[in-house]
Amino acid sequence: MPIHASVLELIGNTPIVKARRLDTGPCELYFKLESQNPGGSIKDRIGKSMIEAAEKAGRIKPGDTLVEGTAGNTGIGLALVAQQKGYKLILVVPDKMSREKIFNLKAMGAQVVLTRSDVAKGHPDYYQDMAERIARETPGAYFINQFGNPDNPAAHEFGTGPEILEQMAQVGGLDAIVFGCGSSGTMTGLSRCFAEKSPHTELILADPVGSILEEYINRGTLSDKSASWMVEGIGEDFLPQISDFTRVKKAYAITDKESFLTARELLEKEGILGGSSTGTLLAAALKYCREQTTPKRVVVLVPDTGNKYISKMYNDYWMLDNGFLDREPTGDLRDLIT
Ligand code: PMP
Repeated sequence: MPIHASVLELIGNTPIVKARRLDTGPCELYFKLESQNPGGSIKDRIGKSMIEAAEKAGRIKPGDTLVEGTAGNTGIGLALVAQQKGYKLILVVPDKMSREKIFNLKAMGAQVVLTRSDVAKGHPDYYQDMAERIARETPGAYFINQFGNPDNPAAHEFGTGPEILEQMAQVGGLDAIVFGCGSSGTMTGLSRCFAEKSPHTELILADPVGSILEEYINRGTLSDKSASWMVEGIGEDFLPQISDFTRVKKAYAITDKESFLTARELLEKEGILGGSSTGTLLAAALKYCREQTTPKRVVVLVPDTGNKYISKMYNDYWMLDNGFLDREPTGDLRDLIT
């Protein structure tokens, strides 16, 4: 085992684990554990790639202020890199995001600005619009802009994608991959990598009910109406500038309830503690697997760790209060949560 010079060297090279106990129909299902990155999510990869590419291009230098709008995980990835390299960081985060992510960000030294979760792109309080405005109004600040930054998908085209193909070559290849779409960096990067290196691999999108993407993929229509959902980090109300959906074959719309219950099932059956979007992705992956008539090797991403959501979907009382659990919690844990 090597000794690393900094925590940044731990980003990427995440393990893959095969499902043992879930019903995956005729398919073999594999989990790519992005939850094992040092900041606990896939977004550490882009924190590193977007800052290092901007440094290389001479756009930023240590001491500068970086600004970004984020569901939390990009913020944690950026905070990790900013802290190690000596940048100041201002993050605008929608207030629906878990306390765990927000406190984690503050404890890493980032300045966190909370904003409303109930407004869409174009509204001045929308987290990305607010981040852009703060960057414009702060002298010398640099707007990271993960939704328009080509070094976001590049992290997946040249990092996540090749890693997955190399790992899956050990079991004969990769027939399908299931992912979600927030900034679309994962999807766009994987799509470009597989187009070149594994063109037969099917790209499957998992989308929360309320997002506009599932309808866009399956029916080609682009709705201007989105509803809200509680799963964090995936689903959109617009098409990100960097997005490339052209090779996505099929999408599944998954409810919050199914997402949370499926994430809990993953922990119960496979011992993997995934975040809320993991539940959405796994629910879609299981539907896809069970629909197949021939065996396929399928990878589903585990974009972040469930440690970020212990007080939400892994808390029976939160699940009950939100109508996601059909039974009373067992044992009396109420003292623990007040
Ligand atoms: N899952 C989680 C938990 C996330 O935070 C994100 C990023 N917002 C994603 C999935 C989706 O990744 P991407 O931004 O690359 O589309």
